[in-house]
Order: sequence, then C-alpha cells, then structure tokens
Amino acid sequence: MEPNGVLVVGSITADVTAFSRRLPRRGETVLGEDFTLVLGGKGANQAVTAARAGAPTWMAGCVGKDPFSDIVLSGLRSHGVNLSEIRSVDNRTGVAHIRVDASGENDIVITPLANWDLSVEMVDDSIDAVRDRVAVLLLQLEIRTDVARHAAEAGARAGLTTVLDPAPAQSLPEDVWRHIDVVTPNESEATALTGVEVVDVESAERAAAWFLERRVRHALITLGSSGVLSVTAERTRYFPAYPVSPVDTTAAGDAFTGSFGAALASGLDIDSAIRRGMAAGALATTVHGASPSLPDRQSVDELISLYPSVDGGAS
Ligand code: ADP
Repeated sequence: MEPNGVLVVGSITADVTAFSRRLPRRGETVLGEDFTLVLGGKGANQAVTAARAGAPTWMAGCVGKDPFSDIVLSGLRSHGVNLSEIRSVDNRTGVAHIRVDASGENDIVITPLANWDLSVEMVDDSIDAVRDRVAVLLLQLEIRTDVARHAAEAGARAGLTTVLDPAPAQSLPEDVWRHIDVVTPNESEATALTGVEVVDVESAERAAAWFLERRVRHALITLGSSGVLSVTAERTRYFPAYPVSPVDTTAAGDAFTGSFGAALASGLDIDSAIRRGMAAGALATTVHGASPSLPDRQSVDELISLYPSVDGGAS
C-alpha cells in the first residue's frame, strides 16, 4: 500500500487563556470572566486537523516534564495523533499565554520552552521511523529555524511532499526554499517574507512569484474570507472561500494546512486537497478557540457537498 500518513514536525503548547471584558492597561489588574487551558501550538493544531481528517498522523515535537505535558499529550491522543515521535525532555512544556477581551481582541505571549529542544537528530530519527508510512511532511516556524530548515531538506530527501506554513513569519536561510514543495502563507506572512504588500489576488500573485523564483514548486497564498490563490509554474488559479458565518478566525490557517496535508497524503489531486483545506479553514472560523475549532472529516465533507461549485478558475 502507498504511504498515506502525515508527519508534522512542529510546536506543542499549552494554551492558557484568560477572558475579560477588556484587556488590562499596562500595570493594571482586571477581573476576568472565564479561563481555559487547552492543547495548542501550530504543529499540534495541524496534527490534530490531519488526524481528524482521517490521515494516520505522527507528530515530532517535544514536551516537558510538568503537569502541562499530561494535558497536551492527552489532547493529542484524544484526537488520534500518534505520540511515538514525541519526546519528553528535561524542560517545561511550551506555553501560549493568551488574553481575550469581549470583542475578541487578543494579545499573546508564546514561550517555546521544550519546543526549542527539538533537534535535527530527533527530526532525522522521526523521519526514519515513519518514512514508510507517511507521504507528507508539515512544517511551521514555531520551532528553531535551523531545525525547520533541516526537516525540509531531510523530508525532501526521504521523498516526502514537504509543506511549509511560514508562520510566524521570519526570514529563513535562502537554501530552504528549494526543499519546499508547497508553501502556505497568509497575507501578512506573504507580505513579511516577500516584501510585496499582499492585499488582493493581484498582489498575492506577485508574492507567489517570489516563492517560485526561489524554487518552491507551489505557492498557496491564503486570503482569509477571500479564499486562496494557487500558483505553480504552469498555472495560476483562484479559489473563492466557502461562505460561512465566522465567530473567531483563530486557527483557520492551521485547519487549512492540516486538512490540505491529509488530503494530499490520501492521494487526492491538488485541487481537491485545496478545497478540503479551505473547507476546514472556513469551519474553524465558526467555532471559538483554536484546537476546539478544528473540524473533522465529516463536517468538511458536508460543507464541500453543500457548495460543489467552489472551484478554482484562472485568475
Ligand atoms: P490564517 O489563519 O493563517 O491567517 P487564513 O485566515 O488565510 O489563514 O485562513 C486560511 C483559509 O481558511 C482561507 O484561505 C480560507 O479558505 C479559510 N477561511 C479563513 N477565514 C475564512 C472566512 N472568514 N470565511 C471563509 N473561509 C475562511
């Protein structure tokens, strides 16, 4: 059987969120209204989405030895992510410290902690361990950039389709791009990386050209409620978004990439994989929170069947 799994090399955090009517001013204390503690991190969110989409999914990442590790590991396990490539290191589990006000405005401090302990050797061992079972490697930038760079190269060498979500945006060594099959920046990440201010389909196309010049094979610029621009050397296609009523757009990008990666790994053609990513991204905006909003395969199927006409046309 062809390998149909997904390996995510990335971050795992405990998302510690306080909800208050308004955010405190500098130095001020306010009383909050609610509090949640859930699994997060871009890597973990993409792994959960891929697993919920039905792909056999492994996550290579690090957690610490503390009470937060039990919370994040049980979160990953409960969504069906395989934990064999997760290391427990002598550190504390990464934390995202989030504050949200009544209007949904938020600020976030991410402390990587154990995520910075993920090493190139661990990545090599994980790729070796699962290479017969996975077809797609998903990467983001909440781990050390040298490790992400190495993972792209090692994944490409192992014959995996490498997908980089360049978030949070930061400059990368020039030689990373030629190992990337698909890059999936949103508008602000594409702007930060390419210097082209992405505000519409036309500017997205110019940003996509920057990636292709660096030998990325396929640029998928995600445009929030405007959908996706897909650019390869052969063709440019625009996919309008699925119409939904968003309440919280957090993790739409992670849902997009996780669902897209799972679909590619299952052998679907690229346009169908883009549609499945877009449907997952749209659904993630209809539920509050990050990991609680990541959709499963059935809800993606349902949204796609409601709108069979969402199709990529030439831009
Ligand atoms: P990020 O969360 O990284 O900023 P986007 O906001 O671009 O990423 O979302 C990823 C994808 O999810 C979009 O390309 C789109 O297909 C879908 N999506 C996001 N927001 C909406 C929305 N408001 N309505 C419909 N689809 C959306």
